[in-house]
Order: sequence, then C-alpha cells, then structure tokens
Amino acid sequence: MDIAVIGTGYVGLVSGVCFAEVGNNVICVDQDKQKIDKLQNFISPIYEPGIEELMEKNIHAGRLAFTTDLAHAISQSELIIIAVGTPSLPNGEANLSYIEQASMEIGKAMNGYKIIATKSTVPVGTNEHIQMIIAMNTQHAFDVVSIPEFLREGSAIDDTLHPDRIVLGLDNPSLAEPLTDLHRAFTDQIFVTSIRSAEMIKYASNAFLATKISFINEISNICEKVGADVTEVAKGMGKDKRIGSSFLNAGIGYGGSCFPKDTDALIQIAGNVDYEFQLLKSVVEVNKSQRYKVISKLEASLGLLSGKVVGIWGLSFKPNTDDIRYAPSIEIVETLIRAGATLKLYDPIAMDKFRERIDHPSIQWCENAMEAAVGADAICLLTDWEEFKTISLSKLIFIMDQPILIDGRNVYSQEQIQGTGLKYYSVGRPDLI
Ligand code: NAD
Repeated sequence: MDIAVIGTGYVGLVSGVCFAEVGNNVICVDQDKQKIDKLQNFISPIYEPGIEELMEKNIHAGRLAFTTDLAHAISQSELIIIAVGTPSLPNGEANLSYIEQASMEIGKAMNGYKIIATKSTVPVGTNEHIQMIIAMNTQHAFDVVSIPEFLREGSAIDDTLHPDRIVLGLDNPSLAEPLTDLHRAFTDQIFVTSIRSAEMIKYASNAFLATKISFINEISNICEKVGADVTEVAKGMGKDKRIGSSFLNAGIGYGGSCFPKDTDALIQIAGNVDYEFQLLKSVVEVNKSQRYKVISKLEASLGLLSGKVVGIWGLSFKPNTDDIRYAPSIEIVETLIRAGATLKLYDPIAMDKFRERIDHPSIQWCENAMEAAVGADAICLLTDWEEFKTISLSKLIFIMDQPILIDGRNVYSQEQIQGTGLKYYSVGRPDLI
C-alpha cells in the first residue's frame, strides 16, 4: 500500500518505518524541518533502539522517504495515518489543535479517495470531528478510521512488528478487509470495532495499566508500615493468572507522554458526560504523591537537604528512551533545587533533553554513574536503566561522602546490597541499614 504518515514523533516514525519494513511504500511528513533534515540523513530525532538500522535499510530499499511537503505525500498515498501529538491542555483535556491543523491540511491536499487513519490518542468523538474538518476542505470522497497505537517507547519496534493486538475502529464495513490485510503482516489478532469503541479502548487500556501501577504503589506504602516486602507480595499476586505479573513493580510512579495525559483526558471525557471517574482520580493522585517518597526518604536519612550533594541516576521516565515528558525526575530535581541541594545528574541517553528542560547552577552534569556518586551524600536511582543494575555497588562507599542509596525502582536485591556498606532505602521493602 502507499502510505503517508503525518508526524514523525515516537509513534509516527516507528509506524512509518515498520509499515515500510513489511513492504509498503511510506512517506513520513513532519512540519519540523530540523527533524526531516536529520531523518533524510539517516539520523533519528528520537532515541529508540534499532530505529536507525531499519530506517536506513528501508530508505535504501526505496520504500521509505521523509518530507515536509504534506501535499506531495498525500497525493502519492491511499492511506494517510495521523500521528501528531495530543498533549494536555491546562485543564487536563486533550489539546486537539495539531489534529485539527493536520485534518485541514489533509483535506486541502487530497487529490482523490483516501482512507484517513487516526493513530494519535484522541477523545471519543474526535474522529467524527476530523471527518467534518476534512469534508469542509475537500470535494473528494474519503473514510476516517481509528487505529489506536499501543507501542511502548523503548521496545517500540518490536511492539509494532509483533503487537498483542491491533484495534481497527471503523464505521464503513467495506474497509475491514483491506485494513485487516494490511495489518496481517504484523499479527492475526485484529479486532474490528466501531470508531467510538476503538477510541475508548485506547484510553481504557492506559487507565487500567496506570491503575495497576498506583495500586501496587499503595500496597508498597502499606508494606513499609507493616513490615512486608512489596516485591514478594507482587510476585505472589502475579502468579494468579487473573492478575498477571506485569505492571506490578512498585516505585516512584509512572510518567511519560501517555499515562499522565491519557488518565487526565479520560477523567475529563467522563466529566463531560457528567460522570465522575472517582477511581481514576485516585490513581492520578496516588501517582502524583508517590514520587515525593524519594524526597521524604532523603530527608529521613540526611535531615535538612540544604547544602547536601545528591547524585541522581536516571532522568528519562523509563529505560531505553530519551523521553522525559512528565518524568518523575523533573519534580524531584526541582524540589531538591528548591531545598538548596547540589545535584549531580546522570542518565545514559536523556541528559540533553533534560538540560533543555531544566538547567540551573545547582546542577552538575556527569558523564557516568560513578562520577555522579563522587562526593555525594546520597544517590537516588530514578530510572531502572540496565547499566545501573550491574554497577559495582561495593565501590560506592569509597567515593561517596555518605553511603546512602535510595532506590526509587527497587532495582537491587538484598544480596546485592549486603557487604557493600551502603545504607539502602527502596520502595515498599525493609530498609537495609
Ligand atoms: P510527538 O510529539 O513525539 O510527535 C508528534 C509529531 O507531529 C511532531 O514531530 C510534530 O512536529 C508533528 N506534527 C504536529 N502537527 C503536524 C502537522 N500538522 N503536520 C506535520 N507534522 C506535524 O508525539 P508522539 O509521542 O509520537 O505521540 C503521537 C500520538 O500518539 C499522541 O496522541 C500520543 O498520545 C499517541 N501515542 C503515543 C505513544 C508513545 O509512546 N509516545 C504510544 C501510543 C500512542
């Protein structure tokens, strides 16, 4: 199929590359010229393992191209995928301005029948709005479908090439066959439903996963008070097939560009039809407070934080991505700066993005994890990058001023800590001091 993808962010770029990989001709469009310049030179503007190799392979095979020329891309394509951002407005609602702009541009550029597929996460009813905007800008026939995206940053290529399922939301039944054929290259688990249900499936899925995280975080807070170990509790719970073990890792809460904004948006979607989503409101509140556990553990072990040196391991909202949107690290770093601490920050990939967001005289930017530990009164691990799991913990006592390690992701086992001389605080597990 000839496909245009509008927006080359985490979703659009990965989708475009993967559709090319399975044999389609794909043109990816972005209004950001700098991104397109990089992509045309085989450089990915985002960090995603494996993306540049697949890009290069498919560009050389003549199946993948990048442009800022939306009209050209539309004119060449039968299927147009919308993958622009839908960030939060201050009141929590999804900001649909990028979607509206893209829809208008698509309508104006159409030169014949097109299928327009929305991959961006949009509130229920938005695809009807998209349909209306396009219709106001073209005389040509078209169909709008909803194909919500479930990829996870950090494993986005594998998630796209081998998804658990693909949801096809369509109101024109004649599209079920060609769109199922197109996606069968990825999986047989294709679920065809109405557009409104597809829009809701995306929000309900993210809200459920966020609920699992906040649930285990609340259990972890109780574990700390009753002397239980939340990792053992989660393991024991997860062995029950009805519960499952994924998304039961206690820590400092979720972040990223999806869960925080999608939970806020679903609360708003419910509110707009006079339904108070009480459970999800609590999930959001629990998540907001959970990140401050790092601060309270620091205060409990160090006293006043003013003048203290704190090493931070990990800034991205999760490992294997450079994405820092809504990362717990942002509020933790801001709070520590306000408290008068000196910070030594290190992340394997996300340093540049974080520095664009927060730069301050109290921050020292470190080249590796050990450098961040030198002279520190405490280290806080905020992202469970693989390299932190294998670090030589026994060396820390020789380079830190005080051997305090606060593990916000429960990365280390009791055996790893024993014999290192560290005072170790984690989430929902007994302190090792
Ligand atoms: P992003 O911000 O990384 O990328 C969006 C891109 O769209 C940007 O490069 C921007 O320049 C471009 N753009 C905006 N308007 C445009 C226009 N009119 N023409 C051309 N380009 C335009 O966003 P993202 O993280 O890829 O997310 C995109 C959507 O997918 C969101 O709705 C998000 O909720 C959803 N989603 C994201 C993920 C994820 O892990 N990031 C997973 C599933 C779903």
